Amino acid sequence: MIPAIRGTHDILPAEVERWQRVESVSRRLFERYGYAEVRTPIIEREELFAKGTGETTDIVQKEMYAFTDKGGERITLRPEATPSLVRAFVEHNLEQAMATAKLYLFGPMFRYERPQKGRYRQFHQLDVEVFGVSDPAVDAEVIDLAWALVTELGIPGPELVINSVGCPVCRPAFGEALVASLGSDVSRLCADCQRRAATNPLRIFDCKVPEDQALIDALPHSVDYLCEACRVHFASVERHLDMYGIPYRVSHRLVRGLDYYTRTTFEILGTNLGAQNALLGGGRYDGLMKDLGGPDRVGIGFAAGLERLVLALPETAGRQVGPPDVFVTAIGEPARDVAFQLVRELRQAAIRADIDYEGRSVRAQMKRADRLAAPLVVIIGDEELSRGQVRVKDMRSGDQVDVARTEIVAFLRGRAAAANK
Ligand code: AMP
Repeated sequence: MIPAIRGTHDILPAEVERWQRVESVSRRLFERYGYAEVRTPIIEREELFAKGTGETTDIVQKEMYAFTDKGGERITLRPEATPSLVRAFVEHNLEQAMATAKLYLFGPMFRYERPQKGRYRQFHQLDVEVFGVSDPAVDAEVIDLAWALVTELGIPGPELVINSVGCPVCRPAFGEALVASLGSDVSRLCADCQRRAATNPLRIFDCKVPEDQALIDALPHSVDYLCEACRVHFASVERHLDMYGIPYRVSHRLVRGLDYYTRTTFEILGTNLGAQNALLGGGRYDGLMKDLGGPDRVGIGFAAGLERLVLALPETAGRQVGPPDVFVTAIGEPARDVAFQLVRELRQAAIRADIDYEGRSVRAQMKRADRLAAPLVVIIGDEELSRGQVRVKDMRSGDQVDVARTEIVAFLRGRAAAANK
């Protein structure tokens, strides 16, 4: 057999109910907060992410599934959703169409990373973005939505971490402070960090190399280098979170792996997830739309990994598709035709009905009904049919009763409704 590609995974019936639960809880919540769904293509032009996500990010430098298509265009499988949503917003002039542009998206993302628990090459995100609102109240609302999501899903022990990475006014001074603070120690950092120190010092905080961590922990904090406007903004985000009673911790290391963030960044971490413990992450990106050639509109949003939300769900969630209400068995050819028609009628009447497709013995059919744990079995035989009847067996009590073929759907609807109460 040809196996699946490394870093991809199938979502099987045993776990799909957990996925559906995450999706339906999120969808309901997003709509309550006034977000509308958007679906964008999985393939985009490579330059959308080179420009959007940022040339110096790990995603663009190392992880993109980019290729030249048959028409000679550079294409990539999207590694994240934000640039796509910004593109769609501008391309379709959604600003005109929506009072407040609040968008959400579900879908697969692709990054060529080293696979491990909670980290895949094809994974799935839900993504939330608000365009055109600069008030810090919206930062707090987006964080509140993220917090509501993990709490409504019943995920135990979430931890909210926030930071401010400043803006183009104050960030250069902070970058210089990082380089100055490192001094000659920069040569003790990994090769990636040495490159980062020269091109984009903030990215040093993305480093995962264990030997580098002590030096990085001792670096200056971005919140101490904020300009007045960024300082006031961050204080207001904190004040709103305090007002909502949402607990958080400020972490100076939280710069997030993307270049476009300005001011607020945040993550929610889960427990029992191993090394990949970020359930979701996001922040404000006030310059992105303009950098991509659109109007000068600010933005804020977050993305959550669906695999990680599913992994973090409490154990009680999750079941395979339940047993049918009714299993229909048939003895003989004419009876089989009636049985298939009946199953169809039952399903149209919103009754979960199942049947054996292989025309096996009655015993084999009853065994299958038992295995599926069907509470009721309909038995259609030539003799009953000639009387215009079918037989219904209650599998728990063993009781049997003959019911007219014309009455059977109504009869079973009544029984199924009583059982599902
Ligand atoms: P990012 O787009 O890197 O900010 O990631 C946002 C969220 O997506 C993370 O908090 C994870 O939950 C999830 N995520 C990112 N990369 C992966 C991956 N390779 N595999 C699974 N989930 C991921």
